[in-house]
Amino acid sequence: MKAPSFAYSKPATLAEVFDLLAHHGDGAKLLAGGQSLIPSLNMRLSSPSVLVDITGLPGLSGIVVDGDTVRIGALTTHAEIERSPEIARHLPLLAQAVKQIAHVAIRNVGTFGGSVAFADPAAEYPAVCVALDATFVLASQKGERRVPARQFFKGIYETELSRGEVLVAGEFKGIGVGYRSAFLELARRVGDYAIVGVAAHAQIAGGKLADVRLAFLGAGDRPILAGNAAAAVEGKVYGPAVVKAAQDALAKDLAPPADLYHSSATKLHLARVLTGRALTALGG
Ligand SMILES: Cc1cc2nc3c(=O)[nH]c(=O)nc-3n(C[C@H](O)[C@H](O)[C@H](O)COP(=O)(O)OP(=O)(O)OC[C@H]3O[C@@H](n4cnc5c(N)ncnc54)[C@H](O)[C@@H]3O)c2cc1C
Repeated sequence: MKAPSFAYSKPATLAEVFDLLAHHGDGAKLLAGGQSLIPSLNMRLSSPSVLVDITGLPGLSGIVVDGDTVRIGALTTHAEIERSPEIARHLPLLAQAVKQIAHVAIRNVGTFGGSVAFADPAAEYPAVCVALDATFVLASQKGERRVPARQFFKGIYETELSRGEVLVAGEFKGIGVGYRSAFLELARRVGDYAIVGVAAHAQIAGGKLADVRLAFLGAGDRPILAGNAAAAVEGKVYGPAVVKAAQDALAKDLAPPADLYHSSATKLHLARVLTGRALTALGG
């Protein structure tokens, strides 16, 4: 199928974007890398009257390290994140995750902001942002506001973004002393969206796991922080009993929706397998 017809505008400033969004209301859609939006238009899942192309906006791209904060501009592509030495050094969880997004051609144009704003529950960035307790910077005619990732994702393709708002950046605290990260997912083929995945991050202090975060993708209508599983291992020395405790607790955190190929029970089983592998990577 072909996309329905739409008008196209490529503003040069954020102020112009805000004006266009105010003028067209729900009829306007922001266009970044187009890797999710264009397929959804082609499948006629969406029919905006105007696409507002934000790829020419200055100041929305790039990775800046300021003290212990890493700021990723919304228009930074997956490929730029993948190749960034700053991301590898300060956010190794993100560095592991980005390699799992689609294929090179898609990573070359798809953007950080587009993926976060699209809020696919099986996408990698949302789970990483929740695990790392990132903050998103949202801008509109009214000014800027900051929303923690843990409050930003509201449901399938649903976020805190209000009408007229643009996501301009994500902000992360760089990896702390003694922290380790592991991003793992299971997909039917390399480059496919994950069936289920986990973004895991913890501090290893005196051989014990501390500040454990296990954020799952593909296991709910948004990234799910598994608080019961994390609590089961918090302050414990890694070992088979600790892994089993986390795996057992996972049923209290996750009730994964079945998909065309996998039942809810299968997905929970896969999440348990990934939990074991992630804890081994962190503490083993
Ligand atoms: C074959 C294929 C496989 C893929 N596999 C994966 C995968 O495994 N994992 C994964 O995570 N993704 C995957 N993707 C999606 C890809 O990562 C997209 O790049 C990403 O989801 C959207 O980014 P984009 O820049 O292309 O955004 P667009 O497609 O341009 O926009 C997506 C949505 O976000 C909105 N938007 C964009 N930027 C902003 C902004 N700054 N502020 C507010 N709203 C904004 C748009 O209006 C639109 O609604 C895949 C895509 C394809 C085509």
